[in-house]
Amino acid sequence: MVITVNNPPINAGSTEVRQGLLDAIQVFQSDPNLAAAVIIGAGNTFIAGSDMKEFSQPLAEPHLPTVISAIENCPKPVVCALHGAALGGGFELSLACDARIALQGTLVGLPEVTLGIIPGAGGTQRLPRLIGVEKSIEYICAGTRIKADEALKLGIINKLVKEDLLGNAIVFARSFIGIKHRIRDIATPSVDASDVLAATQKALKVGKNRPNVHKAIEMITNTLTLPIDQGLAIEREAFQNLRVGTEAKALRHQFFAERKLFKLLAGDAQKPKSIEQVAVIGAGTMGSGITIACLSAGYTVLMLDQNEAALANGAKKVSDFYDSRVKTGKMAAEKASAILQGFTSSTQWGDIATADLVIEAVFEEMEVKHAVFQKIEEYAKPDALLASNTSYLDIDVIAAKTKNPSRIFGLHFFSPAQVMKLLEIVRCKLTAPNMIITGLQFAKRLGKTPVISANAFGFIGNRIYAAYRRQCEFMLEEGAYPEQIDKALEEYGFAMGPFAVGDLSGLDIAWAMRKNQASTRNPEHRYVNIADTLCLAGRFGRKTGSGYYQYAEGVKSGVVDPFVKQVIDEASAAKGISRREFSSEEIVNRVLLAMINEIAHLASEKVVSDVTDCDVVLVNGYGFPRWRGGPVFIAQEMGRDKLNLELRDLAERSGPGFVIANTDVLFHPD
Ligand code: NAD
Repeated sequence: MVITVNNPPINAGSTEVRQGLLDAIQVFQSDPNLAAAVIIGAGNTFIAGSDMKEFSQPLAEPHLPTVISAIENCPKPVVCALHGAALGGGFELSLACDARIALQGTLVGLPEVTLGIIPGAGGTQRLPRLIGVEKSIEYICAGTRIKADEALKLGIINKLVKEDLLGNAIVFARSFIGIKHRIRDIATPSVDASDVLAATQKALKVGKNRPNVHKAIEMITNTLTLPIDQGLAIEREAFQNLRVGTEAKALRHQFFAERKLFKLLAGDAQKPKSIEQVAVIGAGTMGSGITIACLSAGYTVLMLDQNEAALANGAKKVSDFYDSRVKTGKMAAEKASAILQGFTSSTQWGDIATADLVIEAVFEEMEVKHAVFQKIEEYAKPDALLASNTSYLDIDVIAAKTKNPSRIFGLHFFSPAQVMKLLEIVRCKLTAPNMIITGLQFAKRLGKTPVISANAFGFIGNRIYAAYRRQCEFMLEEGAYPEQIDKALEEYGFAMGPFAVGDLSGLDIAWAMRKNQASTRNPEHRYVNIADTLCLAGRFGRKTGSGYYQYAEGVKSGVVDPFVKQVIDEASAAKGISRREFSSEEIVNRVLLAMINEIAHLASEKVVSDVTDCDVVLVNGYGFPRWRGGPVFIAQEMGRDKLNLELRDLAERSGPGFVIANTDVLFHPD
């Protein structure tokens, strides 16, 4: 009997799918003419995961463990035929079967920890019986997607085929007639305590703040020694508790927020334009990173710079990147050389003539941008898309001096561009709608997480970040010190605190911008000049050996510097502020409120069309802890009344210049 799961697009394990499987197994069991069964997925994949929408509600019967029990208790063999992805509940279902056959290229795994939960249908009990405790800790705690050949080696998959999955699966299933081969009957694996400790420590390096990672380890190690039915019951209960917890809710919020934008691609109103060749103008920090990101996604890339030395330097960065991938075993040498075949560098503008997309990443000066866009228009194809990677300049002003502003938009990458997931796609006043769809398609191929922003100062991310940093500076003046603020935020889960980030990226950049803005700044507004004082003393951060911290030669992390303490104390005294103690909780709370308030401003000003995009921005571009969901999630959990009350308090503490936003935009209409 062939049982086909057909729930496009990813055959997600929904209530209907579970019910269908249960019914089919019952038919199979009771029909004496049927001797073996194959479960297979229709379309491009096996069950690539569970239906996440169901996770926010009480789960409807039949639950997955019921389906799994039916398969295990069926006296006749059931073989699972895998292709595409068999992840989460889909993979757990396959572990209930007597054998697994897969098409080459299939991915299997238990990514539940990335959603704040643990596998809840036997994953932590059956996988270790198959591949041992250490490997299970590694894969389950990292949510690893295991490639088919690796899965074959480990014995997760019993047979790998190149083609005709169903035909092969039927033959394979017949070979099991009369045989039951359940993982539950395999003895608990013996363990080497020191190996388990090493695997646990490795998993906790990343997951130390995550209760679900601790729980997964507990299930794999402690619970495994119990009789399997007891272990399964304990695992299920832990899964159910985690599923309804705040962390899992926050991660589901992020998951849906990130996925939402790609859904625009499915709409057929606008068709994306095809892009194969990209020209990157500027071979500096961003230009070389963008070039790598595009090359790795399979685009042909021309990198252009006016300066021979800068071009050579940028081109070297690109080839060094792939060399190091090969040296560290992360990429096959043939693949790296194939990628580099698609790369050229040039100082000749005529070479951009065949590019479908031109991305400008030259100096952040309006005059330079105007000159560069004039050149681009002169040499690029008339229908090429033209993007600026500017951080703060007004792209409408850049576009205004071009002949065809409808093909100009922003693609704001984050540094390092080959690593950072976030890509802000900036819609200008005259940008043609299909440009945005094309930008989304481009982001998807790059493996980036896109958001769409209106053309406004700092777009979405830098604008929120500025409000965040400003609030931290207020706290410096009021009584906190950089190391205390950084520590509080890092403990909360931020990748780095704001002052450590400032020192890393260079305090001179923001200083130059503040000087530019000085003439238009409202003198009545609160302004903290601590960073200016540090810059005046030549302290630009790591690159000068000191900033908010002091850095020893060649050492990345800074140490507390009495000079900075003195500058801060003097700044407070100059304003007559009597310094006071701050708790970590207050620091984190003020930062979150400042972000939430700025997001509400961005939404009211229509810079962002859906506030949850801001959570996507912060998590993917600014090191905000994903499992906290983002400021909008936190605001929604807090509720309107409490938020408004706390914002009033923050406004009072922040002083002149802090404007409370209309927070209605953060909440769904009642
Ligand atoms: P960079 O100084 O490292 O590189 C700029 C490059 O542009 C240099 O190699 C320079 O030779 C080249 N260039 C200048 N004028 C040119 C011209 N007329 N024609 C051709 N090439 C020219 O700068 P960067 O940090 O890579 O920043 C580039 C752009 O990206 C800026 O607009 C910046 O605001 C933006 N950006 C930077 C970051 C970041 O973290 N560095 C992040 C996001 C966006």
